[in-house]
Amino acid sequence: MRVLVVGSGAREHALVLAAAHDPAVTALACAPGNAGIAGVAEQLGVDAGDPAAVAELAIGWRADLVVVGPEVPLVAGAADAVRKAGIPCFGPSAAAARIEGSKSFAKDVMAAAKVATAHSETVDNPARLDAALARFGPTWVVKDDGLAAGKGVVVTSDYDTARAHAMTLLDGGHAVLLESFLEGPEVSLFCLVDGRTVRPLLPAQDFKRVGDGDTGPNTGGMGAYAPLPWAPEGLTERIVAEIVQPVVDELAARGTPFNGLLYAGLVLTADGPQVIEFNCRFGDPETQVVLALLASPLATLLHAVATGTLAGQPPLEWHPGAAVTVVVAADGYPGVPRAGDVITGAEAEGVLHAGTRRRDDGAVVSHGGRVLSVVGTGPDLGAAREQAYERVAKVHLAGSHHRKDIALRAVQGEISVPG
Ligand code: AMP
Repeated sequence: MRVLVVGSGAREHALVLAAAHDPAVTALACAPGNAGIAGVAEQLGVDAGDPAAVAELAIGWRADLVVVGPEVPLVAGAADAVRKAGIPCFGPSAAAARIEGSKSFAKDVMAAAKVATAHSETVDNPARLDAALARFGPTWVVKDDGLAAGKGVVVTSDYDTARAHAMTLLDGGHAVLLESFLEGPEVSLFCLVDGRTVRPLLPAQDFKRVGDGDTGPNTGGMGAYAPLPWAPEGLTERIVAEIVQPVVDELAARGTPFNGLLYAGLVLTADGPQVIEFNCRFGDPETQVVLALLASPLATLLHAVATGTLAGQPPLEWHPGAAVTVVVAADGYPGVPRAGDVITGAEAEGVLHAGTRRRDDGAVVSHGGRVLSVVGTGPDLGAAREQAYERVAKVHLAGSHHRKDIALRAVQGEISVPG
């Protein structure tokens, strides 16, 4: 099987590494890739945001399976274009990707499927903003209705901050989603979905805020761990039965079946799991830890999803133990990141590349906000955490920053589920 992965982050580095371990894979390419991926897969050039260009590349490279990593090409229709060219594609159609591309669409689907989610209102007119804010909060949850790379959300108990964020979005022509604040630990559950059949992966937790102790602005994600030692018995089965399967069935009933990775972002509240968002693709950085533990052949699984034959696959197998990843971010991230700094230690085991590039002189340099995602594994979460941070300590990038508390509260047994 010739597998082409589209994307250039640490998520794609993890996908390519896992696919490389699948005996069914005979050739592996990634477009546009990065300096780390180039060591595992053939690196091809493409404008990932241009569906026709992605399909053309897949035809030219004679791909048997295309795996689209990021949301932007999916929302733009990359999977539709690849499938139209007759090539199996792992990733939803543009119509199904709206589950991530439009938060109000996701809310509509959830209401129809009777899925528990935070109460919300969409505001597209500044004249209605103050009254709407008064009906919510504190604490206010203010979201960009469209795609914002994880940075469109502000959660705050300060009215002026909430209002200012909403005004910035409205001034930019974006609709605003106000949402009630959900209290409890967060869970990311990835599910393989072939239109009908749902196969959950291990639940994970990610760390959205830039600073230790969940302080500072939201980011694309600063670290993650899996599995969740504190998760209640039967949590995954409950989420699939109450949330994921009903949404998958609703999308199919609307004539827009979901094919790919459906990511449920949830809060475990005293009233049970509630959805804060759906994503239409593997999450970054959770993918780096979930795939580090997957023992089943990844490309074979993704091909089964792409061809609607997931139900015929054997049960998923997992390596024992746990995995932790710590994101090393460039100076300035999540604002404007500084690029072009030399990275040393980036070729070591467990170091996945995100925003990196190889310079003409051979040096690996920073080329994005989240630069590396360093993964550790071990027999338990504490050991995995220790290995991840030992590996981070051996990497050098001037001005970089990372969180020091990834998975710490879980290791210390401080996370409890209300109710
Ligand atoms: P999202 O991009 O929707 O995942 O939101 C980013 C982050 O904001 C989430 O990971 C949560 O930490 C937080 N968040 C979003 N919605 C809510 C909510 N309704 N209640 C509490 N926290 C939220």
